[in-house]
Amino acid sequence: MSGMFDVHQLPAWRDNFIWLIVCRETGQGAVVDGPEAGPLLSYCDAHGIKLTTVLNTHTHHDHIGVNKDLAKRGLLEGLTVYGPALDVERVPGLNRPVSEGDSVEFGALKGHVWLTEGHLDGHISYLLDDALFCGDALFAGGCGYLFDGPPAKQHATLARFATLPPETAVFCAHEYTQDNLRFAWAVEPDNTELAARIGDVWKQRALGRATVPTTIGLELATNPFIRTDSGSIQLATSTVGAHPAEIFAATRRLKDAKAYRALSDEEAGIVALLER
Ligand SMILES: [Zn+2]
Repeated sequence: MSGMFDVHQLPAWRDNFIWLIVCRETGQGAVVDGPEAGPLLSYCDAHGIKLTTVLNTHTHHDHIGVNKDLAKRGLLEGLTVYGPALDVERVPGLNRPVSEGDSVEFGALKGHVWLTEGHLDGHISYLLDDALFCGDALFAGGCGYLFDGPPAKQHATLARFATLPPETAVFCAHEYTQDNLRFAWAVEPDNTELAARIGDVWKQRALGRATVPTTIGLELATNPFIRTDSGSIQLATSTVGAHPAEIFAATRRLKDAKAYRALSDEEAGIVALLER
């Protein structure tokens, strides 16, 4: 990324990603969220990376589990822990509470904090040059559940992500792409870029490969939650001509109803796409 740092992907649990950002100049590492510390510590050991920093996006257990695990091993003390200012009591080791407009620093790197609520109150994202670490706010082809909401807040979060340069790399916290795209296809079956993405993602998953990071440009072209101007999505959600926040809310409700999951790949028209 940008010549200043590398981002390493460490899969954990069933579908979580632990992201490890390493400053090229100093070799210092910052971990973004994670359910546990084991894979992170082995990776740092094997590659001579000095972990100095934790960046938490929100308080769900599979994101602050890494803090708890590091604490249990006596390794959290001494680390710089950035996290949501709203959750000082709930993020283990949090010693740098941050929110909208604040900066984070480690090694020779500097990033910025956006308040990106909707999934959870206090949820923040980190922007480092051309890389976005967005926790559960935005996923490849989807977005997080609205635990705190309201939908308008999550819509504003996604609309703001959409203003980033299209080449911005998106490091979200889960491998949910296949399920997300199955829903996307159910509401926008005339999107040719989506069809191409489905072909690619099904191929990658069959090989056991991750489909994250994604980019803002790819999300703008294929993610139904930021495509509120799509006529097909408006039709599918009975919101033709409605306010974008309402279209988003209806799209989220429709996905939450999970009817698309009842269809096989064949019935959903996905098999036909793969055979193209
Ligand atoms: Zn979450």
